[in-house]
Amino acid sequence: EKVFSGFSKTRDNLAVIDELLLYWNLSDTDRVLDNLEEALLVADFGPRITIKIVESLREDIYAGKLKSGTEIKDALKGSILNLLTSKKLKSELQLGFRKPAVIMIVGVNGGGKTTSLGKLANRLKKEGAKVLLAAGDTFRAAASDQLVIWAERTDCEIVVAEKENAKASSVLSQAVKKGKEQGYDIVLCDTSGRLHTNYSLMEELVACKKAIRKAISSAPSEILLVLDGTTGLNMLPQAREFNDVVGITGLILTKLDGSARGGCVVSVVDELGIPVKFVGVGEGLEDLQPFDAEAFVNAIFP
Ligand code: GDP
Repeated sequence: EKVFSGFSKTRDNLAVIDELLLYWNLSDTDRVLDNLEEALLVADFGPRITIKIVESLREDIYAGKLKSGTEIKDALKGSILNLLTSKKLKSELQLGFRKPAVIMIVGVNGGGKTTSLGKLANRLKKEGAKVLLAAGDTFRAAASDQLVIWAERTDCEIVVAEKENAKASSVLSQAVKKGKEQGYDIVLCDTSGRLHTNYSLMEELVACKKAIRKAISSAPSEILLVLDGTTGLNMLPQAREFNDVVGITGLILTKLDGSARGGCVVSVVDELGIPVKFVGVGEGLEDLQPFDAEAFVNAIFP
């Protein structure tokens, strides 16, 4: 598997840190740390995390614990890895033992929800699962058509609304029942993504979650929120809102291949306490990678 080739823009922007540390000496510490702080902010690690990291480096440098540029870089990588792993969040899908496992995919339009759902279907299918897709975005007519194309590309069955203006919750409920009756391993549920400020979307998502619970007598195994990686830290309020209303179990961060703001991954995990489960690093079927904290840190600080 490629090791996060998709983070090249973030890596290129952070390469300045290597140059800074190469010529570091004790008397130059404050200037180097100012520049390092700037680079972390530009990569969207966020002010809180950036200050925490930089101040702890400063302390360790002046205490004589870090004696070379290499040691400083290793400490920097270590503190980022620690931020990503200290909460012991599970970055693997937690599908449970019930069949079918139901995965709800939520997020605002344009973030990459449908594409991610298609890529995820492809991945699960390749792992040997029998996957059913459910076209729960009944609001946008084109959304079902788009998902039908992904169903064909991934060779998965799909349940779509039988009539116009069908309720999303009834489509999902029907799909989940079919999944149960016909021995599917996983039902992947698409949902609407019209503006998150529109309260009725949130109401609809709650209704969808309830309908699933009713159909299989348990909550969805995963409710994954798809977030556009190019928006960097701006994704935080949106993520909070979705989490408050439906309870998010994991994140899919998309378009990180086109973004220099990869540091937001660390901020999102630290601020929300929700694991990143996958990252989208391109438009192709294979461009969805399971998130691995260590691979991430090595990709942005080679
Ligand atoms: P939706 O409205 O949330 O369902 O968004 P779509 O799945 O239709 O994606 C919107 C656009 O973003 C499409 O042109 C996708 O090809 C593109 N896209 C989605 N994920 C990624 C990604 O990880 N990397 C890149 N470069 N483009 C992506």
